[in-house]
Amino acid sequence: MRIDKGRLFVISGPSGAGKSTVISRVIADREDLQFSVSATTRAPRKGEVDGENYHFVDRARFEQMIKDGELLEYVEYVDSYYGTPIKPILQSLEKGVNILLDIEVVGAGNVRKVMPDAVMIFLAPPSMEELERRLRGRGDVPEEKIISRLERAKMEYREIPKYDYIVINDNADDAATELRSIILAEQCRTSNRLQYLSE
Ligand code: 5GP
Repeated sequence: MRIDKGRLFVISGPSGAGKSTVISRVIADREDLQFSVSATTRAPRKGEVDGENYHFVDRARFEQMIKDGELLEYVEYVDSYYGTPIKPILQSLEKGVNILLDIEVVGAGNVRKVMPDAVMIFLAPPSMEELERRLRGRGDVPEEKIISRLERAKMEYREIPKYDYIVINDNADDAATELRSIILAEQCRTSNRLQYLSE
């Protein structure tokens, strides 16, 4: 039986770029790919499930997680904490399961520092106008948060050169196909596959 080494895939992109939709499509049809559920202090949005989309915790609990070294990385983003629990990641990689993180650019940069083999993918909307339209269309983001998220998106674009791949989410099906292709190509890397070849 062949067990590939687990790889860490980090996806970033502006809030509203459609990351969750694209990610859930790809996760749904790959058993060897697991979504890393982050902890956050922000309130759940309609339809979000605790333990599935995020671990929703209060600030005291989050600060305890930081103190106890439970997070691979964390940031304070638009007035809330967001962080990646390290334990499930290490357990999955050990078992050969790939992990997919949906995190913003500062956290992604910190992950790369500690895990240089992480594959970094930037998911971008087709344009800033389209991003604004999608954020407003969601109907659950207050006006002042829309403005700060658009400002933040401009900052995030400046970090794009640090990423290995760009997926433009014009259409979720095509973006999911591109994401699957990136994962497949990374699995075929010589550094991963050489172990299965005998001379
Ligand atoms: P949202 O509130 O829209 O779910 O997420 C806001 C931003 O936080 C998104 O860009 C998302 O990728 C990012 N994010 C979610 N979880 C984490 C995390 O654990 N760490 C970091 N650094 N960013 C996160």
